[in-house]
Amino acid sequence: MRIEAVRGDITRETVDAIVNAANRSLRGGGGVDGAIHRAAGPELLEACRRLGGCETGDARATPGFRLPARWVIHAVGPVWHGGHRGEPDLLASCYRRSLEVADELGARSVAFPAISTGAYGFPRELAARIAVETIRSTPTSVELARLVAFDQETYEIYRRLLAA
Ligand code: ADP
Repeated sequence: MRIEAVRGDITRETVDAIVNAANRSLRGGGGVDGAIHRAAGPELLEACRRLGGCETGDARATPGFRLPARWVIHAVGPVWHGGHRGEPDLLASCYRRSLEVADELGARSVAFPAISTGAYGFPRELAARIAVETIRSTPTSVELARLVAFDQETYEIYRRLLAA
């Protein structure tokens, strides 16, 4: 599997599936979640409603509707409370479950945002390490995992980790 980092807006990614940093209600929100719902159109909220929520650390799929990506995989990251409430394992679970759902869909290329590093407050460096390590160690048929950084700092962290 190839893992690469890019800087940009995940709603523009032309991959089979993009991952959303969603919340447990799956009713939309701010940050990347809001951007994905705006770009996909109102059908996305309808499809999310039918899923009836998602636990932290898990992931559920919908179509991508007006997005270039065919599917959206809604992963629910943990809120950072200091690191002693299972946050690292829950974040790793998001990446692992997203790849499992991608396999069920038959998706071969998947783009990920930096889950939990915005409103949920997860430290960027630790989150990036968990993302890269979990993607590298999860058995999957996905051929391309693209880490989409919205800011330069996250992009540079990914570049450094991927070069190592
Ligand atoms: P969370 O609640 O999981 O922290 P956020 O959406 O607040 O989710 O932030 C997660 C990450 O997504 C942050 O690094 C943020 O900068 C980034 N982000 C925000 N908008 C976009 C976008 N359009 N494309 C890619 N990443 C984005």
